[in-house]
Amino acid sequence: MREHVGVQDTGDEGDAGDESHWKEVLEPERYEVLRLKATEPPFSGALLDVHDPGLFRCAGCSSPLFRSDDKFDSGSGWPSFTRAASDGVIVEREDTTHGMRRTEIICAGCGGHLGHVFPDGPRPTGLRYCVNSLSLTFEPEGGMKR
Ligand SMILES: [Zn+2]
Repeated sequence: MREHVGVQDTGDEGDAGDESHWKEVLEPERYEVLRLKATEPPFSGALLDVHDPGLFRCAGCSSPLFRSDDKFDSGSGWPSFTRAASDGVIVEREDTTHGMRRTEIICAGCGGHLGHVFPDGPRPTGLRYCVNSLSLTFEPEGGMKR
């Protein structure tokens, strides 16, 4: 039995209170990814080629999750980072769906699904945080939100 910050496992249509709130405030595509753990098609994301200095925030709760300094081009088709913006902003948990053993990454602030982290990233961390563009918003350094 896994229990986590209001995230429901697939197939569990229980308590709709919290989740219906998200359906109202998020755009449909963002809702699908953040709350239903959908994955956007590779190379489709708006933030894939963003390399300007700035901060990537959670599209659900605006928590600062990643920095552009840690973003790299992994060739995977999804925005990729070597580490989180700071300790504690991202929760990891084991994901054994789709016949694979992966590590899901979740926003600690709102429980939104972000993507997965893999141990095949570049130095210095050796980690690759593979994140859906739809889970994030980009805030350019010293500027307005796009
Ligand atoms: Zn969040």
